[in-house]
Amino acid sequence: MESTWIGSPNFTKGRKRVTHITLHVMGGYLAGTDATFKDPSVQASATYGIGADGTIHQYVSEQDTAWADSNSFSNSTGISIEHEGGIPKAQFTDACAEASAQLCAYISRRYNLGPLVHNGTIGNVYLHREIPGTDHPDCPDRAPNGIDVEQIITRANEILQGEDELSAKDIYDTRDQDGRNLFDHAHQILDDLPIQTRNALIETRGNDGRNVLDGVIQARNQIQTLQESVDQLTELVKQLQK
Ligand SMILES: [Zn+2]
Repeated sequence: MESTWIGSPNFTKGRKRVTHITLHVMGGYLAGTDATFKDPSVQASATYGIGADGTIHQYVSEQDTAWADSNSFSNSTGISIEHEGGIPKAQFTDACAEASAQLCAYISRRYNLGPLVHNGTIGNVYLHREIPGTDHPDCPDRAPNGIDVEQIITRANEILQGEDELSAKDIYDTRDQDGRNLFDHAHQILDDLPIQTRNALIETRGNDGRNVLDGVIQARNQIQTLQESVDQLTELVKQLQK
């Protein structure tokens, strides 16, 4: 996840365990937010801010408490994300939503938040306007060009779910430090086995009548064929684009 460190003097050192993400809208542009959070007299910050082109800026370390939610408990248990928009001239864009979804998924994975749920302050995604003590009744979704909360959550959950599904191609593409993939390793392990164990493995039969070795070789061949088709298609697309 690429983000640029901007920093802010407005934070409290340390934090409690992360249990949620709070979504905000800047009411302006990313550059203005950079300037605001750099100013110590403002007494405000957020962990992250995202621009209309999907650029992510970071103001406060995830290890520390940003001053974002108008509620110190929410600040100390959450990671806050500002989004460009919230005024008639500043758009909330698809690129911003995509970057936000990627960032939310990245946060959820690292703090074990699970699938993202917005349900007031019961779920793991809070909106600034819902937090007790807030003085921002429009943040983040009720201001002009406010953010699309559902778009971000739906996409983040898509990303989180996709990560759970490892495809055969993913396995084929894995590379160990020695440049070999898992299938190479499986073959090597079989090669290294004492001859009797190896024979026993070859003699085992699955429900389809194939032994373990056949299964590995067949899977490998299927994936190679698949990879060749992908390469051919990629080449075709390149030629068509010319
Ligand atoms: Zn806010």
